Amino acid sequence: MKAWILDKPAPTTTHPLRLRELPVPTPSEDELLLRVDACGICRTDLHVVEGELPVRRSSLIPGHQIVGRVAALGARVEGFSIGDRAGVAWLNRTCGLCEFCLVGRENLCEQAMFTGWTVDGGYAEYTVAPAAFSYRLPDNFDDIQATPLLCAGIIGYRCLRLTRLSGDEWKGARLGLYGFGAAGHVCIQLARARGAEVYVCTRDRERHQALARELGAAWVGDTQDEPPVRLDASIIFAPAGELVPVALKAIRKGGTVVLGGIHMSPIPEFDYSLIYGERVVRSVANNTREDGREFMLEAARIPVRTHTESFSFHQANEALVALKNDSIRGAGVLIMDMN
Ligand SMILES: [Zn+2]
Ligand SMILES: [Zn+2]
Repeated sequence: MKAWILDKPAPTTTHPLRLRELPVPTPSEDELLLRVDACGICRTDLHVVEGELPVRRSSLIPGHQIVGRVAALGARVEGFSIGDRAGVAWLNRTCGLCEFCLVGRENLCEQAMFTGWTVDGGYAEYTVAPAAFSYRLPDNFDDIQATPLLCAGIIGYRCLRLTRLSGDEWKGARLGLYGFGAAGHVCIQLARARGAEVYVCTRDRERHQALARELGAAWVGDTQDEPPVRLDASIIFAPAGELVPVALKAIRKGGTVVLGGIHMSPIPEFDYSLIYGERVVRSVANNTREDGREFMLEAARIPVRTHTESFSFHQANEALVALKNDSIRGAGVLIMDMN
């Protein structure tokens, strides 16, 4: 099979991924072998490729928003058949035995494996993944539209949960979003469907700000602009630590600022008064399978419409450069179009 390999992290502008011919992997007894149809690109892929996350595997195939068809099954797999569509996300496998797994917090598992970081991912014609961690995807999303659900969507969903707003509190709630890429554009749709007003702070007037308006933002400004109202909660998707005090300045007492990324530049020192008043800052680490399943149901019911920009499989390096330059509208997707 053809696969994109990262031998050593390097700036995306140097095109660090190399196209190789590799044997098709063999699924172990609890795994699916998937023929990949499309694989979303994510900011986390950039952090892996450029070395902001430590190297966990040399000669790595990146990619963790994989949509494919089951081509073979391990002997102990249940619930999937040959030809079924399945999705693979970032959380690849957990131990099931540690203090976190045992209490339903598998996203914090000490032994967790991650697709496209500690195990090979989906920038390839085939991939294997544990059946128990693979998702059924809603039928009203085609393969390309479904890819951003698998990370951008699920993480956005968990970020909304960690704002601590729930049920009727969403009606009329004022939510801030900082950064408006793949995750932001799904998150705004969930929040609005729940009844919230969404205030979006992002750079790039032509792409990100325009898409935010199109998706019904109550107000759109630049990253450092102050929204016209006090916010009940905010989510920072941009990997920029300097936005933490900016976001804190804009939320009401008791409000929460959720940090949605796996990596962030250092947070500058700020005055205690910004966090006083029982304001909360918290990060989001991965997701549980329950988050994923709940999110898929909600996304199908609304229904969420994903905005994607497709890249040919051969353009993996170019796609990462485009993501790095913030020039993708919505979510970027690699399409398996080798033939
Ligand atoms: Zn565990
Ligand atoms: Zn991701």
